[in-house]
Amino acid sequence: EEVPYGYTPEEAVAEAQRCLHCKDRPCVSGCPVEVPIPEFIALVAEEKFAEAARHIKTKNVLPAVCGRVCPQETQCEGVCLRGKKDKNQAVAIGNLERFVADYERENNLMQVPQIKEKNGFNVAVIGSGPSGLTVAGDLIKLGYDVTIYEAFHRGGGVLVYGIPEFRLPKRIVEAEIKALENVGVKIYYNSVIGRLHKVDDLFEVLGFNAVYIGVGAGLPIFLDIPGKNLNGVFSANEYLTRSNLMKSYLFPKYRTPMIIGKKVAVLGGGNVAMDSARTAIRLGAEKVTIVYRRAREQMPARAAEVHHAEEEKIEFRLLSNPVEIYGNVEGWVTGMKCQRYELGEPDGSGRQRPVPIENSFFEFDCDQVLVSIGGQANPLITKTTPDMKVNKWGYIEVDDWGRTSKKFVYAGGDIVTGAATVISAMGAGRRAAKAIHEDLMKESDETLQPGVPKDESA
Ligand code: FAD
Ligand code: SF4
Repeated sequence: EEVPYGYTPEEAVAEAQRCLHCKDRPCVSGCPVEVPIPEFIALVAEEKFAEAARHIKTKNVLPAVCGRVCPQETQCEGVCLRGKKDKNQAVAIGNLERFVADYERENNLMQVPQIKEKNGFNVAVIGSGPSGLTVAGDLIKLGYDVTIYEAFHRGGGVLVYGIPEFRLPKRIVEAEIKALENVGVKIYYNSVIGRLHKVDDLFEVLGFNAVYIGVGAGLPIFLDIPGKNLNGVFSANEYLTRSNLMKSYLFPKYRTPMIIGKKVAVLGGGNVAMDSARTAIRLGAEKVTIVYRRAREQMPARAAEVHHAEEEKIEFRLLSNPVEIYGNVEGWVTGMKCQRYELGEPDGSGRQRPVPIENSFFEFDCDQVLVSIGGQANPLITKTTPDMKVNKWGYIEVDDWGRTSKKFVYAGGDIVTGAATVISAMGAGRRAAKAIHEDLMKESDETLQPGVPKDESA
């Protein structure tokens, strides 16, 4: 079950009444997609909840998701004037966003978007994460045929395979995907592009006019220390996917089993680490410890996630890092050797650099290790599209509007920026949809003919 309860209508109105309706709207500048925050809050104060949701959707198509997962404390709420005047109690913009989006959906007030007449062009979207869904939603409204190719058997990207149900109920993502299908977006699941078709095939064999790549950065990074291949060492990505998507906790009803650790160490301090730790507790672990080499205030996780992890009795072993994972003769994890750290000079990120303290090793008892130290680009598509430029880390190079170096191929979200946020992936999708529209319309006046996509559903 989702952990934070949402507002009641009375609570939402009371919170909305705290807004000062600041003239220069700092909260709007703090939002990566410039949601008209004071205006939607004014509608909440007037009890016009569905109107408020529609007002947000002019800029953000997934408010029920963003209200729950955006790092508001470093974005809109971080610059809210009410917060500066009122002992850090910013207007709870995220909670209000969640409330109005839930109100609209739960009361069947979601409007079917107006779809322009078909323009004959068709676009393939690779990946159904927040960036791919945004591109699909924007282009279908403009009259394009849109087909999404998704590697997994369900759509939503990290929203379904990464972020757990207790933080983002899957019915919310399902409703958004259903709404896209209802207006004509085709989704082919279990379709790994780079294997099933190359990007060039999407143009040459399947007749698409443009391709958007929104495949995320889901390839896990592992610590390069002795013991990293022992049984019981998981990437957080695999662990969460098994639990969220494969429902391994219902084994044998669902056929992917799961190893349940008793004493679980989670390495990392971001949202993925908090989600893994809180999932481990729910799966039956007796003790779960976050092991993180920096200090608490440097944790990249949303403040609410750290707070909830603490409330759920997750322990924190800060300024500590493993140097070796121990195993028994059967190859199972039995513990870790860790080292203590202290904070040094600021590094490139502006945060104080964690520096290992000499001879400060200690033993750490655990039987499962969940590695949550970040993700990287999966090279499957970029390797099979050699004429598309990537940077030295394998992320796709794009201009400000998501255009890659390959004509009519666009990209956005984590595969461009590296692991970032839902809202930034959506912002990238929105910009790329504009560029695709502009480029195809411009070219259609000159040489380009609308394509005839081959229907693969047969
Ligand atoms: P993704 O969401 O990664 O979606 C990419 C999709 O492409 C996936 O469905 C994948 O299966 C598919 N795909 C990959 N390769 C192929 C292929 N070759 N062919 C076809 N399909 C393919 N951000 C926040 O703002 N707040 C949070 O609280 C937060 N928590 C997070 C928790 C976890 C556990 C994780 C992993 C991330 C979290 N993030 C959070 C980050 C956020 O989810 C990502 O930045 C965002 O989802 C990126 O969106 P995307 O569309 O670029 O890619
Ligand atoms: Fe309201 Fe805060 Fe935005 Fe000012 S900064 S308009 S108080 S939400």
